[in-house]
Amino acid sequence: MKVVTMPLFYTNCYLIQTATGWILVDAGTRSQAKSFLRRLGKLGIQPSDIKLIIITHAHFDHVGSLASIKSLCNCPVLAHPLEARLIETGEVVIPPGTNALGKLVSWLGRHNIRSLRFPKTRVEFTTDQELDLTPYGVAAKVVPTPGHTPGSLSVLLEDGQAIVGDLAMSYGLGSNFPIFAEQPEKITASWDLLIKQGASIFYPAHGRKVPVTRLRGIEK
Ligand SMILES: [Zn+2]
Ligand SMILES: [Zn+2]
Repeated sequence: MKVVTMPLFYTNCYLIQTATGWILVDAGTRSQAKSFLRRLGKLGIQPSDIKLIIITHAHFDHVGSLASIKSLCNCPVLAHPLEARLIETGEVVIPPGTNALGKLVSWLGRHNIRSLRFPKTRVEFTTDQELDLTPYGVAAKVVPTPGHTPGSLSVLLEDGQAIVGDLAMSYGLGSNFPIFAEQPEKITASWDLLIKQGASIFYPAHGRKVPVTRLRGIEK
């Protein structure tokens, strides 16, 4: 099953091939529409080939270009209802840091919140449960994986590939625990949930893909 990484500035978005086109997961930081079109063009994909945009969560670096990408693709958006509310109101949430670096970046974010604003965008579909994606032509499902935010979603493909948003980060520097989290106590339970359901490799929005056998939590 084909998953293509599409970095939009510092956020990895992902394209999942389906029987009828593609599903895009996440929409990057602001002002990425040109970069999106350029990268799609190189892949030989038309914006109209994208049939659905799934948002893992409503942080500015995942929904910054959602409004413009959505209008290029002319397709619906799916998110968890808690995140949909933020996407539709344009509310910027800065999560607390889970380590020293995260705390610093979180502080900077809270003090520069204006620069992180994103255009409000309509969300057509919401789910707070597992959702089968076979009607979209791909053997995959959406799985609620709270921890980074209460409404975080992951996309789990039947072959074990899992697109996890910010549920894990992977910069090759030790821990894969996200440096920000609103519910840090739920992170590893969500990892375990995906693994129990067959996930073998995580594709994070920040950093490189990581096999689940190499996932590392917070050092004790
Ligand atoms: Zn995030
Ligand atoms: Zn992020």
